[in-house]
Amino acid sequence: MKEYFIGIDLGGTKIAGVITDLKGNIIKENIIKTMAEYGDKAIVLRIINLIEDLIISSGKTLEDIRAVGIGSPGPLDPKRGIIITTPNLPFENFDIITPIKEKFNVPVFLDNDANVAAIGEYTLGAGKNTKNMVYITVSTGIGGGAIINGKIYRGNTFNALEIGHMTLLPDGPKCNCGNYGCFEALASGTAISKRAEEAVESGRDTSLLNYFKITSYEVFKEAEKGDSVSRHIIDSSLEYLGIGIANIITLFDPEVIILGGGVMKAGQIIFDRIKEVVDQRCFKNMASACKIVPSALGEKSGVIGAIALAMMETE
Ligand SMILES: [Zn+2]
Repeated sequence: MKEYFIGIDLGGTKIAGVITDLKGNIIKENIIKTMAEYGDKAIVLRIINLIEDLIISSGKTLEDIRAVGIGSPGPLDPKRGIIITTPNLPFENFDIITPIKEKFNVPVFLDNDANVAAIGEYTLGAGKNTKNMVYITVSTGIGGGAIINGKIYRGNTFNALEIGHMTLLPDGPKCNCGNYGCFEALASGTAISKRAEEAVESGRDTSLLNYFKITSYEVFKEAEKGDSVSRHIIDSSLEYLGIGIANIITLFDPEVIILGGGVMKAGQIIFDRIKEVVDQRCFKNMASACKIVPSALGEKSGVIGAIALAMMETE
């Protein structure tokens, strides 16, 4: 009885769902399109259908479900289950958990996607057997979640670890949030591709000219082949990434920093450079005690994180 969890990862283009046993082993999984253009209520109905489908296709009934966890882009209020507003979804102060609770009569928990990924790594991934850890995702933006003494740290307005918007360079490039010199305006995948495009437009002699569309992946690739413009962009971005992470280590003194997100696909070069910067800038004993490792859950960090949220909240 009540020996299964459901995890939902709500994104701007797709919604992923899994049903797992109490240890987080996946029984069934499914991915559907978000279809954000049909509005907030339609999205909730699609989530409800997805949950029903997961229960039925795995041969279970509602009686078997202990809780549902949902990870969503923020900002949101996890206590009240309200998504306040998000750039890629049509939500404005929308209560997403009440309709799901009412439909299934099971506990439903919500948190932002970075916190959910942090809880996932802590419970079932690279942060297992630690008490203090920080998860950082580097993709189009930079976000994070911290576990302190075994609990997720949300902060007063639930915006703790919005690390992408720490100012690292007072007169730096403008960020999407309106501020200048934010961490993510200097070190995210978007920041890398933007600097590459600027270099191409300014007529610099670079092998990046061979690409129609440049993502951070191409810049890493050309840097590795020896293109000096790409190398310069990567060097500078990784230095800022290292500085941001050094600041986070100084702030939290964690046992482990777990790095996820698309940019991490560039691999070892990122970890080597971050380690160098951290060793330069942090207290020696703190830097040497803190491991910096890749995410263990990878692309499943959203759904498995949602499962881990449901586990943590029903403990
Ligand atoms: Zn910002």
